[in-house]
Amino acid sequence: MISVSPARLAALMDRERRRFAAERPKSKALFSRAQSSLLEGVPMNWMVKWAGPFPLFVEEAQGAHFVDVDGHRYVDFCLGDTGSMLGHSPAPVADAIARQVRRGITFMLPTEDSIGVGEELARRFGLPYWQFAMTATDANRFVIRLCRAITGRPLILAFNGCYHGSVDETMAVLKDGRTRAKHSSLGPPVDPALTTRLVEFNDLEALEAALAPGDVACVLAEPAMTNVGIILPDPGYHEALRDLTRRTGTLLVIDETHTICTGPRGYTGAFGLEPDLLTIGKPIASGLPAAAYGISQGVADLIHARTNVQDSDVSGIGGTLSGNALAMAAMRATLRSVMTPEAYARMIPLATRFAEGVRGVIGKAGLPWHVVQLGNRVEYQFRATPPRNGAEAEAAMNYDLDAFLHLHAMNRGILMTPFHNMALVAPDTTTEDVDLHTRVFEESVADLLGREDPGR
Ligand code: PMP
Repeated sequence: MISVSPARLAALMDRERRRFAAERPKSKALFSRAQSSLLEGVPMNWMVKWAGPFPLFVEEAQGAHFVDVDGHRYVDFCLGDTGSMLGHSPAPVADAIARQVRRGITFMLPTEDSIGVGEELARRFGLPYWQFAMTATDANRFVIRLCRAITGRPLILAFNGCYHGSVDETMAVLKDGRTRAKHSSLGPPVDPALTTRLVEFNDLEALEAALAPGDVACVLAEPAMTNVGIILPDPGYHEALRDLTRRTGTLLVIDETHTICTGPRGYTGAFGLEPDLLTIGKPIASGLPAAAYGISQGVADLIHARTNVQDSDVSGIGGTLSGNALAMAAMRATLRSVMTPEAYARMIPLATRFAEGVRGVIGKAGLPWHVVQLGNRVEYQFRATPPRNGAEAEAAMNYDLDAFLHLHAMNRGILMTPFHNMALVAPDTTTEDVDLHTRVFEESVADLLGREDPGR
């Protein structure tokens, strides 16, 4: 961490808040009007989390950029927190949606697109069978139910600091070695210790001990953690995780919703993981609500043996809009024309340029911070070395510093995710966009350190 006095940070923040408000009268007026019809003035409660005094209202977006209602243009490194990771409204997906939307949106009947999507997902991730949901949260919920049903075991295992959507089982933290509800979790249905065992990522001893009693239905894991900053697995960690889960009869679920940043076949394809089930949402239909989960042959056989088609509509899995024709058309076009090896070949080198830019500024200023890259995702964190687990990553978080960096960037035409310091590079992001970020980041560091030139 660096020592910026709270008074200095507060003064900088005040300067940025005033500039933000003065330059955005239309967003300000819309937020004020929204107070009487939308709870907290936003359509979804997270949208109050932006660093400014009110959220930006978006006029339109294309590729890696968007324009707010006041006419300011931004380089978007947030990209809908991964939903628009492949760019806003990519033309092949916009065309596929426009075509399908006139031919029926939802039927509770399949379209041929669903087969094309299933075949392509099987090719990419090595799991033969696929099902669809509307969000990654739902895909995770459904998969957890399936794992419980076929193993007859009550618990799931997840990692401290994880986020898998608003899945009740994972709204938990590890505190004093025990699984407890997150302080932020509103109205947990039951004590999560009854449903979940949490361990720290990269701790094989703890994992082995947690699986030993044989009461865990599945491990639900991001292959690299991305929701407390990026935490990469230690060398050999995945091999050991797979071995331990197999030896204890525990199913392994890999959540690729964010780690699809690694490449077109996700972390699973890039590193040859062998999950029993896999979930993915967000960018899979370029941001149109849609998610998928893949199932191995062995798991499919067990599901088949234990479920009854007559009960399928009341099983707790699925939903009337899941697998709808519009989502399937968008997913098919995304897989065919947008989430391609060529797109990653453009994005990843630019993400490396982004990481190098930030690393250069940190190095020049002598800050004890570091940068991690996973594919087209880059994150800077306020500690000198990469964290190995959720507790280490949490300890390095500084919400006031985040808020200043985000607001400072927004005032200079750059949008980072509102959660920590994560950036995603889209296929349409340019070298100039990345270099603008480096310059703006350098300015913000100079402001924090009270120097004209942060390297001096
Ligand atoms: N899995 C992971 C790894 C995520 O990061 C998220 C959301 N950030 C989800 C699942 C849930 O996605 P959604 O909110 O779209 O349901």
